[in-house]
Amino acid sequence: MKRVLILGATGSIGTQALDVVARSEGELRVVGLSAGRSAEALVALARAHGVERIALTDEDAAARAAEAWTDGEVLPGADGLVRLIAESGADLVLNAIVGSAGLGPTVVALSEGMDLALANKESLVVGGELVTTLAEATGSRLIPIDSEHTAMHHLLTGEPAGTLERLVVTASGGPFRGRTRAELEGVTVAEALKHPTWAMGGKITIDSATLMNKGLEVIEAHHLFGTPYDRIDVVVHPQSIVHALVQLCDGSTLAHLGHPDMRVAIGYALHHPDRTTLPLEPLDLVKLAQLTFEAPDEQAFPCLRLAREAAKEGGTAPAVLNAANEVAVHSFLNGQLTFNGIPEVIEHTLEELGGTPVHSFETLYAADADARDRAAERIGALAA
Ligand code: NDP
Ligand code: MG
Repeated sequence: MKRVLILGATGSIGTQALDVVARSEGELRVVGLSAGRSAEALVALARAHGVERIALTDEDAAARAAEAWTDGEVLPGADGLVRLIAESGADLVLNAIVGSAGLGPTVVALSEGMDLALANKESLVVGGELVTTLAEATGSRLIPIDSEHTAMHHLLTGEPAGTLERLVVTASGGPFRGRTRAELEGVTVAEALKHPTWAMGGKITIDSATLMNKGLEVIEAHHLFGTPYDRIDVVVHPQSIVHALVQLCDGSTLAHLGHPDMRVAIGYALHHPDRTTLPLEPLDLVKLAQLTFEAPDEQAFPCLRLAREAAKEGGTAPAVLNAANEVAVHSFLNGQLTFNGIPEVIEHTLEELGGTPVHSFETLYAADADARDRAAERIGALAA
């Protein structure tokens, strides 16, 4: 039996992870759950899954949960989340928190030498070098939960070092594939939230529409597999059946295929190195008939270019990119910024702050905070 701690339990990945656990016939046991502020939902999940300890980073939400739920313990605030992780005795921590708020919990889990199933790609985008160095130092295993990276992990496991030539990350292209930048000017939040193939949380759905998600995933792949940026390609594949390809030195190209269902990636990470059975329809290639591929349009979707530029600059630049993106996406979702305003704000913030060398996690937290302030200023200026 594996003891699992699920962070971001109320979200899209978190609830699907609980579904995978429930199907594991006792092989997995949940020892704790966390969320940001969804007190009622988290308490309901704790009751349903027989969990005795939860953490809510929002103090008011934690107080509400403690009042409503007397069968277990509610740990409040950022410190509560640290305690939940450090005292959990978990064999595996699944981090499905959204945004750079997930970095701190990643650091705590890795510092404790716990294995980490990482959906929170922002941990690697912001803190890639330090996070992977920490995992190596403490012996923690880092198992991705992102369909493309799970695919690459599958494909590369057992592959001798030095045989990998290129990684290919596929992208659905999002709901606005084929549109020009001018045609994206007036798109609405509802349109941007209508992802053609995946059902996900709000922030990553917007990142998929802008193609920032692919930019973040290129950075994620670089850190997970130690692959230089000029050997990581992005290809648009609207059917989302091929999740990634790896090209090897002998001319072989391996692909990973499957229906777009995150439970595959979650099941892989939770049960690794074993496999589990999931109730998914087998892939029927005749029924699918066609799988198509095209190059991403970086004119219409500048976020991919911005992510590559920040990645190349290195240091704190990816942290700045990520924070500016989080603020811009939040403002777009609140109706305070246009869709095309998202890359505009990110580019402006990157130009203002650039990248500086990273000495510690504190450098990264400071860059994140500065970028948030600058991005918010820019959004205010654009609205005025
Ligand atoms: P959701 O928005 O659905 O869920 C986010 C979770 O994080 C919720 O439990 C939320 O709690 C919690 N949370 C939000 N803010 C904070 C905070 N400041 N501190 C602590 N907890 C917080 O996101 P997704 O499940 O879609 O995505 C989670 C991560 O997984 C992201 O990094 C995303 O990029 C990645 N991912 C997601 C995929 C998907 O299919 N959804 C696919 C691949 C990667 P509350 O309910 O209280 O707000
Ligand atoms: Mg992905």
